[in-house]
Amino acid sequence: MIKYKLICKNCDLKFDSWFASSNDYEKLKGKKLLTCHNCNSKKVEKAIMSPQLINVEFKGHNKINKDKYLKVKTTLKHYQKFIKDNFKYVGDNFAYEARSIHYKSKKKSKGIYGHASKQDLKELKDEGIDTQIIPWIEDKDN
Ligand SMILES: [Zn+2]
Repeated sequence: MIKYKLICKNCDLKFDSWFASSNDYEKLKGKKLLTCHNCNSKKVEKAIMSPQLINVEFKGHNKINKDKYLKVKTTLKHYQKFIKDNFKYVGDNFAYEARSIHYKSKKKSKGIYGHASKQDLKELKDEGIDTQIIPWIEDKDN
């Protein structure tokens, strides 16, 4: 028996499934007998195991290797800690808060960090407000 992690391309559900062998998987797939138990889609494929799985934070850099990723990750974690200690988290209000700091010149205010859409960032830039984008790693794998 062999266990594969499968992913539904339709609803993004990931689940484990057992097969007699890798040929068995190919056979079932060929006969379109693999279905997603969530949405019944037949677009079910073997999920590629790490390192691809950990690259979600690096969209467009799928070829980054694991060592490099871990190194970058360590750097980012330090960076994140610094930001968490020194900046105020504003969540989705980033664009709003950035503007209020910029226009009201809140001199004493801490830097802020949060989420902003590409459109928000573009508008802020047009208004002369500089922002930095850094990849953010969730801490859940610690
Ligand atoms: Zn599905």
